[in-house]
Amino acid sequence: SKSAGRNTMRFFDPTMQALVAQRTAIDRELRLALKRSELVLFYQPVVDEQAQMVGVEALVRWQHPRRGLLSPMEFIDQAEQSGLILPLGQWVLRKACEQLVQWAAQPATAQLTMAVNVSARQFRHPEFVEQVLEVMRATGVAAHLLKLEITESLLVTDMLEVIEKMQALRTMQVTFSLDDFGTGYSSLSYLKRLPLDQLKIDQSFVRDVLTDSHDAAIAQTVITLGQSLNLSVVAEGVETHGQWQFLAQRGCKLFQGYLFGKPVPVAQLPLSCLSWPLV
Ligand code: C2E
Ligand code: CA
Ligand code: CA
Ligand code: CA
Repeated sequence: SKSAGRNTMRFFDPTMQALVAQRTAIDRELRLALKRSELVLFYQPVVDEQAQMVGVEALVRWQHPRRGLLSPMEFIDQAEQSGLILPLGQWVLRKACEQLVQWAAQPATAQLTMAVNVSARQFRHPEFVEQVLEVMRATGVAAHLLKLEITESLLVTDMLEVIEKMQALRTMQVTFSLDDFGTGYSSLSYLKRLPLDQLKIDQSFVRDVLTDSHDAAIAQTVITLGQSLNLSVVAEGVETHGQWQFLAQRGCKLFQGYLFGKPVPVAQLPLSCLSWPLV
């Protein structure tokens, strides 16, 4: 038919074809990257009101042989679409837990928490819980120091399954943080039902918190919501002393952002991120 013909034409659209070719190339390279250990974990400090590091977030990078150090923005979406996010996510989790075990052996770092990003596809995989448990068994990590960061994109379908999986891991003492909070589709009723431990105020609200009264109101609302629901709240993307002060004055107790430290390889992590005191 005519419409089928049009659909077929769309498939031969040269820009579409170029895009498909590019994706296939990324796929192939990423598959190799996993084999050749080209992925690396960077760690960004999470600090308390005294700017002392209380934990880190693990953030993956790809040390590409030709293109240099690639940001996750350049390959995570594609990894989600191709399914490579499953081995990639598993690699990240194992690496992060191995690091946590090393820190546990030193008194100065024994209390640090490790936040690991979990993509929706990874979480939805039927074996997800088993895979996390397997990494926990293999590394001997102290599960209460492991925090899994999930996003609202997970919550659009199958809430019961999400809750069940979270519960299963929570009985092992793994904790959960809701990342990029406020940017997705979540309704407040989800929050009540989800076995969460933490909310992260998205950096898009932190960026203009001093100048945009709407952003300030949203940030304040998330902080208050966290307090009422007994969830800790992290403000991410804190870049200035002013933003830090503003959020701290409104009851936020945990912070993450360039003000305290960019994501860095483990050897470059400072223990104290105090550049100057919060007054
Ligand atoms: P995210 O989880 O929201 O991580 C925070 C991002 O904000 C990181 O970007 C971090 O470097 C950046 N950031 C932190 N502080 C500041 C700041 O003060 N100012 C600004 N402008 N940016 C700041 P990054 O490392 O490029 O990661 C981007 C996204 O990629 C992450 O966003 C996360 O969604 C995803 N990602 C990273 N690592 C992983 C991973 O291991 N697994 C999965 N599934 N996703 C990951
Ligand atoms: Ca995150
Ligand atoms: Ca985030
Ligand atoms: Ca984000």
